[in-house]
Amino acid sequence: MKNTRLIEAMFYEQSEGKNVRCVLCPHECVIPEGKVGLCRGRMNKGGKLFSTTFAETIALHVDPVEKKPLYHFYPGNSVLSIGPNACNFRCENCQNWEISQERVPTSHLSPERAIEIAGGEHDCIGISFTYTEPLVWFEYVLQTSKLARERGLKTTLVTNGFINPAPAAMLLPFIDGLNLDIKSMDDDFYRDICGARLEPVLDFAAQAGKATHIEVTNLVIPGLNDSDDQVSRLVNWVHQNLGPDTPLHFSRYFPRYKMTRPETPIPTLLKAAEIAKSKLNYVYLGNVRDNVHSTTYCPNCGNELILRSGYSVRIKGLSGKSCASCGLQIPIVL
Ligand code: SF4
Repeated sequence: MKNTRLIEAMFYEQSEGKNVRCVLCPHECVIPEGKVGLCRGRMNKGGKLFSTTFAETIALHVDPVEKKPLYHFYPGNSVLSIGPNACNFRCENCQNWEISQERVPTSHLSPERAIEIAGGEHDCIGISFTYTEPLVWFEYVLQTSKLARERGLKTTLVTNGFINPAPAAMLLPFIDGLNLDIKSMDDDFYRDICGARLEPVLDFAAQAGKATHIEVTNLVIPGLNDSDDQVSRLVNWVHQNLGPDTPLHFSRYFPRYKMTRPETPIPTLLKAAEIAKSKLNYVYLGNVRDNVHSTTYCPNCGNELILRSGYSVRIKGLSGKSCASCGLQIPIVL
């Protein structure tokens, strides 16, 4: 690791001796001299905490914004997708475990260069911090997002939402949209499957919902979080805390990393969607070929507003941000 890549981290405190306590995320790791925190993205060097991942990305792709998934945020546009080689969760079913849980080579990408690539060389609406866990890339995400805002580009996060309220309050004003994974409504799931906790995630969701555009994803895993009770608790929480217009994406699980249980049956996803539609206006299915459940419908008159097939998008029934048929205002960022 080259020292030039280390920049002093924000949000840490001195602990005993040369130990430091990182207070960026709710793990609040106490890190001895020469060691890294649980996320591997922050290191104690001589009693100071440094980000080890600043301006180092594990991937760089131009993606449709629908792939995040974000369905109510500049539909049909592209974002430059980048992410750090770090994560503060240990999900047994991680889809990106090779880049989130293992050390891999990274490429240098300064904030300025990220902006140039997104806005100049590719016609992206902005940058998506994604793939692994961007919240532990805090200093880079903050600096790049501020620059993006200055240059008229948008920023999005795809996140597990495990961050403390103070850093979240600093970052959220520079984030234009986010997709938050709420993995389960059981704290035991978060502790046993992810090595984390539920409550801070819900706290972040409520905080983010007041600050920026938010969509929620729930990966439905058979036998772990697919009961009617689990789905209802999630839907009720989203309805009460984020509102009925919050897009909710149920995503199909496939065996990955340490989890071997079989993939989610389609009828389980359809049942989850049915339960959700009783309270929420925009419910989608992901990781499945289902054009019906990837279409945005007007909740008032049923008019087809946005058609999606794979990642191809057609805006069909919108007039500006309103339903072209009945005139209802649709919550969509354009
Ligand atoms: S951000 Fe990383 S080092 Fe800091 S508390 Fe969270 S897991 Fe630990």
